[in-house]
Amino acid sequence: MKFNPNLQFDQQHIWHPYSAIGANHPVFKVTAAQGVYLTLEGGQPLIDGMASWWSVIHGYNHPVLNQALQQQIAQFSHVMFGGLTHQAAIDLAKILIEITPAPLQSVFFADSGSVSVEVAMKIAIQYYLSQGYPDKHKFLTIKRGYHGDTFGAMSVCDPEQGMHALFKGILAQQYFIAAPQAGFDQTDVSQDIMAMEQYLEQYHQNICAVILEPIVQGAGGMRFYSPHYLAKVRQLCDQYQVLLIADEIATGFGRSGRLFACEYANISPDILCVGKALTGGYMTLAATLTTEKISQAIRQNPPHVLMHGPTFMANPLACRVALASIQLLLQSNWQNNVQMIAKELQQGLAPCLELEQVAELRVLGAIGVVELKQAVDMKTIQALLVKHGVWVRPFGRLVYVMPPYIISKVEIQTLTQAMLKVIAKI
Ligand SMILES: *Cc1c(COP(=O)(O)O)cnc(C)c1O
Repeated sequence: MKFNPNLQFDQQHIWHPYSAIGANHPVFKVTAAQGVYLTLEGGQPLIDGMASWWSVIHGYNHPVLNQALQQQIAQFSHVMFGGLTHQAAIDLAKILIEITPAPLQSVFFADSGSVSVEVAMKIAIQYYLSQGYPDKHKFLTIKRGYHGDTFGAMSVCDPEQGMHALFKGILAQQYFIAAPQAGFDQTDVSQDIMAMEQYLEQYHQNICAVILEPIVQGAGGMRFYSPHYLAKVRQLCDQYQVLLIADEIATGFGRSGRLFACEYANISPDILCVGKALTGGYMTLAATLTTEKISQAIRQNPPHVLMHGPTFMANPLACRVALASIQLLLQSNWQNNVQMIAKELQQGLAPCLELEQVAELRVLGAIGVVELKQAVDMKTIQALLVKHGVWVRPFGRLVYVMPPYIISKVEIQTLTQAMLKVIAKI
């Protein structure tokens, strides 16, 4: 590549996700983004297979979302949320309560997915603490999970294969059981659920909540598991008086084929985290929702308030664009789009199963995962994918995509053909 002083500055001074300053990790400079396309400096268009990590569900530079933001900017861009409120927050909370599973009635607006997980964990601890159960402060979770990069969230990520294994000795110690082996279509989960039951029976006096990603485990391995497992976990949580936290930061807003992945198991969690696609990928915003039972227990017992409150809580721009994004989603034919994407990904990627280097192909909703037998060299494979005109960012043994819902059949075919060609070369 030609010498580029901007990219050199970037490399020497700016951290990117999980990167090193000064290392030779190439980054590509984006100069425009429109619909399903990213344009790189120099003019090369790329079909975006990542939706900027699950979030850009309507595509880039959407006129409706742009307008929502412009209108809010013309009114005001931010006000503190302590003692003040605004219409965008009220309308967004209303619609979130309406579309999430029924008993969720209380909304906390957080700055990012990780923060919403911290808040969910704090709510669970405070719920039991304030009712006189100080020993119920630990979490039970399944391995291969990913819940974020902050310290509480890190403590419930997979402790060995996850991204935070380095900090194992420093993090709060939680309870981990094996990730369910029963795949999405399997109904017999008796083996998988045994460990959950044993741990709950033995440790429920110390456990305030089970936390997991419903149906789709994202960054911890891109695994899909049986809704029957989730339904059983819900039953066990009730039986042992432990709360259930569903982290739908990746799965929320239609990605799995249901508006929320919990719907596959017909359950509702006690606490729900949403983020990523919440604003259609425009701004950082997340939310933690709980039942009235939980919010009232917190109100009725000292200190009588939930002990959390970020500076930029419920930022009006973020709330306004989130509201517009959800309305756009609900007005669209997203179920059909997601179904079409699932079908095309399955068909387009199926030939990869003939390749020696491929271990498994998994598709659910608008998520396609090719699991390889060996980890890829990200630098090489990323450059090849870009050469083939697509933006896909593999990690470890996984080459996976979750495109914007507006992607066309032909664009998916281009995307999957590029993936096949590149996987065949490695
Ligand atoms: C991305 C993600 C998070 C963390 O969200 P951030 O906005 O990156 O802090 C938490 N849980 C799940 C399931 C995620 O996919």
